[in-house]
Amino acid sequence: MLDFNPEDISVPQGHFIDGETVLEPGDQLPVCRPSDSMVYADLPIGSADTVDRAVMNARHAFETSEWATAAPRARAAILRRWAELIERDRRELAQLEALGSTRHVRGVFDIDIPYSVDCIRFFAEWADKLGGDVAATRSDHLGMVVTEPYGVVVAISPWNFPITQAITKVGPPLAAGNAVVLKPSELTPFTVLRLARLAIEAGMPPGIFNIVQGNGPVTGDALCRHPGVGKISFTGSTQTGAAIMTASAESGIKPVTLELGGKSPQLVFADVENLDRVAAAVANGILNNAGQVCVAGSRLIVQRAVEEALLDKISQLARAVKPGPTWSEATNYGPIISQAQLHGIDQAVKRTLESGPQALIGGKPLDSTVGTYYEPTIITGVSSDMEVVREELFGPVLSVQSFDEEEEGFALAGHERYGLAAGVHTGDVSRALRAVRQIKAGTIWVNRYGRTADYIIPTGGFNSSGIGKDLGRQAVEANLRHKSVLIDFAE
Ligand code: NAD
Repeated sequence: MLDFNPEDISVPQGHFIDGETVLEPGDQLPVCRPSDSMVYADLPIGSADTVDRAVMNARHAFETSEWATAAPRARAAILRRWAELIERDRRELAQLEALGSTRHVRGVFDIDIPYSVDCIRFFAEWADKLGGDVAATRSDHLGMVVTEPYGVVVAISPWNFPITQAITKVGPPLAAGNAVVLKPSELTPFTVLRLARLAIEAGMPPGIFNIVQGNGPVTGDALCRHPGVGKISFTGSTQTGAAIMTASAESGIKPVTLELGGKSPQLVFADVENLDRVAAAVANGILNNAGQVCVAGSRLIVQRAVEEALLDKISQLARAVKPGPTWSEATNYGPIISQAQLHGIDQAVKRTLESGPQALIGGKPLDSTVGTYYEPTIITGVSSDMEVVREELFGPVLSVQSFDEEEEGFALAGHERYGLAAGVHTGDVSRALRAVRQIKAGTIWVNRYGRTADYIIPTGGFNSSGIGKDLGRQAVEANLRHKSVLIDFAE
């Protein structure tokens, strides 16, 4: 049994710098459990001084430990050991993660932790595989392109899958030999402190993986502007991504990797072979983590001939979700992260419904005395200029648009700003390939929706959905810079 009493969980405190927990007096933030809206801990807001201490320690560790200079396979071995230790403590970590996040404990235990552990192993494998190139030059010259880590990489992560997002941010820079300072989201800040302790137990030199707690405007901004930082890797909203680019530009032009928001379509043609399978993909695409997923398939675009049958099936699946506290194994549908987020979703849906569209199911917060839950919601009768179609709500709200001709479907699938992901469901392989060519998104899934554990497939958005990739070889490469060397040995 994974069920637990939230009062029994001990919550780690402070920042983690140079291999030690750091407790400093200063401003704090209350941190809430979304399942029952209770404050369960206080979080220090890392000041500019704390940020400076973390970055300078990270730089010192980068320069003096053997993390970047020993044989890369030694680094890989430590990363693999780290993965083993996370696996060893999986139960305790799953409970701590579920305590204050929107992730139900069964999902963290069965999916998030195994995915993260294997992701570390994937990145570890790249440690000794990206050494650079020899260039084609005249024969009495030797041209080389050598790779080297940036030094200190700042990683900033969101709250929606705290462990998984943190590992996806820190795995590539660590594998590439950098030191990292991570700032997790202030809404879900604690599990990563345990991960950092386990990294030390695995043999990672102190100072290579640090955590500074805090909010965006104070701590996050100070991290991005610190002159000792070589690169920034961020996952979060498009708005924050823009602020981070500005901070980088104003403080020395640090390279950025940005994984940002989306408003991804699921495009369904009437020629699909199995409508039940499509319904499951669409329902899961919007209901997983109550829609709080960057690649949530929040826009259903369906060929008219199957619209009614498909909506029937999706509605049935949506009605069958089991909402409840994240600490119960019976729950498969968690809360919305905060009151503010719940209010934002509710207001956007209300404004849309007032302008004519209808809620086929849902359309309001769930009747519950505690916590912040929103009903699975399907809205029909919308047009592309409406808020629920244009804006990322980050909640369980599916808008539905229908079409007759293929070209019309492709046109509806496009978005004026976002291009994170798209799903295409069709039984016609040529049509699928036309869709792949036409839809402008960083990932296109055909006859499925959502990531698999194929870490080799990079993930990242086009346009306002981001810059760079978070998985695949590309993610590790992005944490190495290239130095060109030309040796002239002509007599
Ligand atoms: P957010 O942008 O509000 O916060 C993300 C992180 O940025 C937090 O740690 C926050 O403290 C920090 N931050 C905020 N302001 C900052 C500033 N000025 N400088 C530096 N750091 C700052 O996003 P969120 O609400 O935590 O997450 C939800 C968003 O993240 C959604 O838009 C979602 O689509 C996106 N997301 C994208 C991906 C992806 O892979 N593309 C994955 C998950 C989430």
